[in-house]
Amino acid sequence: MKIDFLIIGQGLAGTLLSHFLEQAGKRVHVIDHFDERTATQAAAGIINPITGRRYVKSWRVDELIPFARATYRKLESRLSISIYHERNILRALFNTREENDWLARTAEEGYDRYMLDAAELEGYAACTVPAYSYGEVQHSAQVEVGRLARAYRVYLREQNAITEETFDYEQLDLAGKAVLYGELEAQTAVFCEGPRAKQNPFFSYLPFGGAKGEVLIIRIPDGHFEKILKHRVFIVPLQEGLYWVGSTYSWNYEDANPTAEGREYLEGRLRDILQIPFEVVEHRAAIRPTVKDRRPFLGRHPQFPQLALFNGLGAKGASLGPFWARHMADFLIKNVTLEEAVDIGRFHTQG
Ligand SMILES: Cc1cc2nc3c(=O)[nH]c(=O)nc-3n(C[C@H](O)[C@H](O)[C@H](O)COP(=O)(O)OP(=O)(O)OC[C@H]3O[C@@H](n4cnc5c(N)ncnc54)[C@H](O)[C@@H]3O)c2cc1C
Repeated sequence: MKIDFLIIGQGLAGTLLSHFLEQAGKRVHVIDHFDERTATQAAAGIINPITGRRYVKSWRVDELIPFARATYRKLESRLSISIYHERNILRALFNTREENDWLARTAEEGYDRYMLDAAELEGYAACTVPAYSYGEVQHSAQVEVGRLARAYRVYLREQNAITEETFDYEQLDLAGKAVLYGELEAQTAVFCEGPRAKQNPFFSYLPFGGAKGEVLIIRIPDGHFEKILKHRVFIVPLQEGLYWVGSTYSWNYEDANPTAEGREYLEGRLRDILQIPFEVVEHRAAIRPTVKDRRPFLGRHPQFPQLALFNGLGAKGASLGPFWARHMADFLIKNVTLEEAVDIGRFHTQG
């Protein structure tokens, strides 16, 4: 079967790239073996414009958020799902210095649209141990990225456009200009494998990182919160009285499995915050596809131009994914020049 693009991996990166390629009229086939223990399935999908201890705007957030919102809205209507939830973030501030720093930032140009003067705690006021003070962020959101990938998978099945198995690099035939893989003949194969790219024989020369994260899904029967709270950990409302709590962040790990220490840490932080009962429903873990300089990985292979890579969404896939997936699609289809910051060429050359 002749196709334009073979996409390997259908997490958030593969889903968004397939979407843009299809929207441009290209024929896409995906190979993915579904795994619950992937970043896309573990993530809360928080889009947070103001991050870090210094309360700075995330990289290129003024462009990324409107583009992400428009993309997810489009996918919601394509797939008849609801995944993009606008939710303000309440940020706990723990002393005068933090409060002063926060207030100083709100006065800076370009920050006022994201940072509110006063925080409205809603239900959290009565149910949590109060912090010294709070800041509130708007234009933030929670995107159900796991649900998006699962819904897109159903759509791909309906189109007979997915093979649900592990990709076998040995079967790849790169003798001609095209890519041959079993019955499939594609102009380009794009690897969107998340942290598993470390094992990809063609791209493993790139400095992939990897940061493990553990999360809890809990029920708070008397919760009724709408906003996201960032206290010792994030508490993110899901549906039906469930909340996502996380996450841990570790560079040293043996595997992607949940650990007793991770659970203990998260439950401990929760007990520090919540003054009402909660029940743990699920404990998940996964590896984030991080890169040293925290910028995505886009590009074609230096020796095999029929092979390409879209990866490195790190800890911020929900906001970075749509904008850079579209850039990748434009690069693949229209040959636009990749922005230097995301071009894998910044880490040349192959060893
Ligand atoms: C605990 C945790 C919390 C997070 N919270 C947030 C958050 O709040 N906000 C945010 O923006 N981001 C968050 N992230 C980051 C976000 O999840 C990632 O940036 C994003 O999901 C990465 O998507 P991906 O498609 O690159 O990788 P993955 O999700 O790992 O998907 C890769 C896919 O490729 C498949 N695959 C890989 N290799 C092969 C192969 N050889 N053959 C077949 N299939 C293959 C895998 O099975 C998988 O389906 C979080 C991540 C973690 C772990």
